Amino acid sequence: FVFAATIGSFLNVVIHRTPVMMKREWQQECNQYLTEYHPKVVAQVGIDTLNQPLDSYPTRYTLVAPGSACPKCHSAIKPWHNLPIVGWLMLRGKCAACAAPISARYPLVELITGVLIATLAWHFGPSLAFVYSSVLTFGLIALTGIDLDEMLLPDHLTLPLLWLGLLLNLNHTFTSPSDAIIGAAAGYLSLWSVFWLFKLATGKEGMGYGDFKLLAVFGAWLGWQMLPLIILLSSLVGAIVGISLMIFNRHQLANPIPFGPYIAAAGWIALVWGQPIVDAYLATLH
Ligand SMILES: [Zn+2]
Repeated sequence: FVFAATIGSFLNVVIHRTPVMMKREWQQECNQYLTEYHPKVVAQVGIDTLNQPLDSYPTRYTLVAPGSACPKCHSAIKPWHNLPIVGWLMLRGKCAACAAPISARYPLVELITGVLIATLAWHFGPSLAFVYSSVLTFGLIALTGIDLDEMLLPDHLTLPLLWLGLLLNLNHTFTSPSDAIIGAAAGYLSLWSVFWLFKLATGKEGMGYGDFKLLAVFGAWLGWQMLPLIILLSSLVGAIVGISLMIFNRHQLANPIPFGPYIAAAGWIALVWGQPIVDAYLATLH
């Protein structure tokens, strides 16, 4: 739990900084395009103006540098205040220098990471399956946070998890290699088909390509047999949350909600309890 909560502290950094880094990358690509095909525009505006970051973060902004700082007064966070959960409690949710509030989401992410990894340790015991499923869980927590903030599921995270799932099942870690390969393709294609049917019928986009890749991740890790359960669970929980948001929060029907967190949660449940759930369901059919 303590080890995982420390990783959770780093996941907060990943959730916060990855979108900033991605937007800067995107800006660079746009500027490269402009330089290549619209040199007159670039000459008019000036490349320095175009390269100016649209955010207020330091020029060098990666997952490891600079160290954590208060977003308001930019004073560096002391190492003991960086302790997972405890640091936030010691500060009572306020910056030590300027007393600006620090979101409760930081200790919450650390707590959730600790609880989920402790559950995996209890479930899988000391095994390779525990190590692998922990890596998947770290990735899912980062993806969930980023999707909630930005409606994005970065390829930087989904694709490595997809390859890892295919490779580790070469040794039948969670399922057979053939079920993993079919699972990856079927996971992607099932949501891809729903997306296009919905788009052709309504003209609207109901999901993003990141959602297809995330379901492909679970197909690769758990095999195609788990996909119906994951789709069912994620749609069910997504619908319940979506409807409650509309009732209690006056959330507009047209306002999109990210689907990634529901796929991630449903897939994680399938990772730990998928087999007993499927067995119990099949038993009711007899
Ligand atoms: Zn401050």
